[in-house]
Amino acid sequence: MLIVMESPATREMVDSVCREIEQMGLQPQVIEGSARTVIGITGNKSRVNSDRILAQPGVMDIVHVTQPYRLVSREAFPEDTIVDVNGIKVGGPEFVVMAGPCAVESREQCMAIAEKVVASGAKIFRGGAYKPRTSPYSFQGLKEDGLKILAEVRQEHGLAIVTEAIDIDVIDMVADYADIVQIGSRNMQNYSLLRKAGRLKKPILLKRGMAATMEEFLMAAEYIMNEGNRDVILCERGVRTFADHTRNTLDLSAVPYIKHTSHLPIITDPSHGTGRKDKVVALSRASIAAGADGLLIEVHHKPAEAMSDGSQSITPDAFDEMMHSLRRLADALDRSLP
Ligand code: PEP
Ligand code: MN
Repeated sequence: MLIVMESPATREMVDSVCREIEQMGLQPQVIEGSARTVIGITGNKSRVNSDRILAQPGVMDIVHVTQPYRLVSREAFPEDTIVDVNGIKVGGPEFVVMAGPCAVESREQCMAIAEKVVASGAKIFRGGAYKPRTSPYSFQGLKEDGLKILAEVRQEHGLAIVTEAIDIDVIDMVADYADIVQIGSRNMQNYSLLRKAGRLKKPILLKRGMAATMEEFLMAAEYIMNEGNRDVILCERGVRTFADHTRNTLDLSAVPYIKHTSHLPIITDPSHGTGRKDKVVALSRASIAAGADGLLIEVHHKPAEAMSDGSQSITPDAFDEMMHSLRRLADALDRSLP
């Protein structure tokens, strides 16, 4: 249930509604929107006595949320959420491209790729310092040394950094270095990790589990928001299907579904979503057309030598060409892509 306050509502009015909710044995969650303040009630198992709340000064309306998720739902919060990453606005008119290697391999590798992707218009640099690998014998990432390299990339090229936290042991350290903390597909339902991400003061990039329904995906985001972190960017990264011409099937229908159902920004990852570099450009173009707010793209200057995901990594030249074609699409779609 959501309590919509009049605009403007004073702090005393908001506090008094919160006290009333607490007296009912429930938990209020104050959400300051740009237009008005909304108070969410979480933890209610049955319908709340709304008359008591409606009688409070400053209360404009009460919305009973019919979906199982509340904080992520557009029914409850009609306004688009725009996640501000050091001034880069994800979820607004600008189409935001995040690009970089699958894994941080060395300072030289990251600098070589960063220099190119920033020149092509990427705003955020990606790269895993902790890699969730299928085999324990595969390269697991440079760990904190990798995070330090990413911090140097930010320093040198002015790119924001997105990198994955693979477990609760490393998430605080990752958050110290990153501008966006990525929760990977394999961890989408790692609830202790989601709760911890919800207590961070950094935006979270939440990737869809490879077999997750939309409800499970949005519920995972709800875990993060329920801890107080409202800066969640969703990412469609492909699901497992019978198709064997690609590694995963990028579910582009997730984009309009999420846009309709949630106020959170959604980007796509055509690299993991297809697993094939020859499919990345077409699906990136399709993503912007479907209404995505941005992209996560794996770029490597020497894909054949990449320590992970070389077969789905495009070269900086291919990335540059793709950005040109996306710019033309952005124009046609009333989005900006600097
Ligand atoms: C990644 O983006 O580096 C990654 C491991 O992706 P996913 O969690 O989608 O497999
Ligand atoms: Mn990868």
